[in-house]
Amino acid sequence: MLSIKLDRLGDICGGRGKETADRVIQAAAERLVGCVRAQDCVSHAGGGHFRVLLCPLGTAELAASLADKVCHVLRLPFTIAHQRLAVSASVGIGLWSQDGGTAEAVIAQADACMRRATNPGDGYRFDDAGLTASLTRLNGLTDDPRIALERGEFELHYQPRVALPDDRVVSAEALIRWPHPLHGNIPPSAFIPVAESTGFIHELGAWILERACSQAATWQAQCGTAIPVSVNVSGRQLEHPGFPELVRRTLERTGLAPNRLELEITESTLMHRPADVTEALERIRFLGVRTSLDDFGTGYSSLAYLHRFPLDTLKIDRTFINDVLSPEYSGVLLRSIVDLAHALGLLVVVEGVETPKQRGIVEAQGGDEMQGFLFSPAVPPGEFERRFLAPAALERVAHAYPG
Ligand code: C2E
Ligand code: CA
Ligand code: CA
Repeated sequence: MLSIKLDRLGDICGGRGKETADRVIQAAAERLVGCVRAQDCVSHAGGGHFRVLLCPLGTAELAASLADKVCHVLRLPFTIAHQRLAVSASVGIGLWSQDGGTAEAVIAQADACMRRATNPGDGYRFDDAGLTASLTRLNGLTDDPRIALERGEFELHYQPRVALPDDRVVSAEALIRWPHPLHGNIPPSAFIPVAESTGFIHELGAWILERACSQAATWQAQCGTAIPVSVNVSGRQLEHPGFPELVRRTLERTGLAPNRLELEITESTLMHRPADVTEALERIRFLGVRTSLDDFGTGYSSLAYLHRFPLDTLKIDRTFINDVLSPEYSGVLLRSIVDLAHALGLLVVVEGVETPKQRGIVEAQGGDEMQGFLFSPAVPPGEFERRFLAPAALERVAHAYPG
C-alpha cells in the first residue's frame, strides 16, 4: 500500500483558488494511474491525498520501485491554465506483515510513514529504516532518463533467438540497458514505465528503433548476414498516429529491409486498446515489417482472440515453462498453445529457457524457437557479432528467413 500526499498544495495553489487545486489533483491522479500497473487500485482520500493498493500484494522492492516512480512523476511540473506549477509528493509505504494484520493497520502504517517524509519531495518512507537503506539504490530513478539520453548513457544489448532443434541463431532482440554512472545498471522495468508516463517514451523509443535498425543494417553490410532484429514497442508509442510513418522513415534512413525488423508488443498493450493497436499493427505490417505478441500468457488475452490481430509471431512467457509447474502440465499447456498458434500461421517462440529440461519441453511440444539464459543473455553488439555472426551461422540465417 502506498500513501501519497501532494506537498504544499494549498500554498502552491494559494491565490489561484480551489479550482486550480482540483485541476492539479486531477492531473496528479492521471499521472498516478499512468505509472502504477493496470491491476493496482488508485483512490483519492481528499485534499490531494491518494492511496495505491498493489494487487496482487507486491514485495518491498516492488513497492519501493513504484514509490520511486510516483515521486518522480509528481515532481515534474504541472501546467494549469498556462501556469507551470511545481508540486512534489510525500510517499509512505505500508506492508502486510508475515503474521497477518488488518487492512486498517497497513493503511495506518502507510499514512504514518507518509507524514514522516517531512521534507517536501523527500522521496518515500518505509517503517523500517534498514529496509529503506537497502533500497536507496533504486533512487537512480530520480535521475532523469531524458538527461541520460542526451549524455549518451543508454545502450542496446542483443539477445539471440535460436531455432529448434539445432540451436541456429535466427534473430536478435534489442534490450535497452542503462549503466548509470553512479547507481549501476538500472533495469528497464524501472525506467520504461517512467518514460511512458511522462511521454518521453516517444523520444527514447525513436532512439531505440533507429539504433537497432542501424545495427542490423551494419551487421548486414559488415558480416554479409541479414540477421533480423526485434524491437520492443510500448503501447504509448503505438497509440501515436505518427508511429508507422516513423518506422518507415527509420527503415529508409538506415537502409534495413522491412522484413528484417520485427516489432514486439505486449499482450497487455494489445488488450488495453485493441482497436487502435490493431490499426497501427496493420499499417506496420503493410510496410513489410513483422509483428510479434510478447509475454503471451501473462495478461488477460485469450487464445480465442489471437486470430483477430495482425501478428506473425507469438512469444510465450517463461511462466509456462516455470519449474513451479510439473513438466507434464507445462507440456500439455504448451502443446495446446503451440498447436493453436501454428493453426493461425504464427511462429512460436518460448522465452526464458534457462535449463536443458525446459529446452526439452519446448522442443518436445513443437516450439519453433527459444530465447533464454540457457543459450545466452542479452550481450553487447560486439560480443553478439563475435559469438553469433560467424560465417557458418550466416548461411543458416539466410536459409531461415528467405527473401
Ligand atoms: P521482455 O521484452 O519480455 O524481455 C525479456 C526479458 O527477460 C529481458 O529482461 C531479458 O534480459 C530477460 N530474460 C531473457 N532470458 C531470460 C531467462 O532465461 N530467464 C530470465 N529470468 N530472464 C530472461 P530486461 O532486459 O530486464 O527487460 C525487461 C523488460 O523491459 C522487457 O521484457 C521489455 O518489456 C522491457 N524492455 C526492455 N528493453 C526495452 C526497449 O528497448 N523498449 C521497450 N519499450 N521496452 C523494453
Ligand atoms: Ca520482448
Ligand atoms: Ca517477454
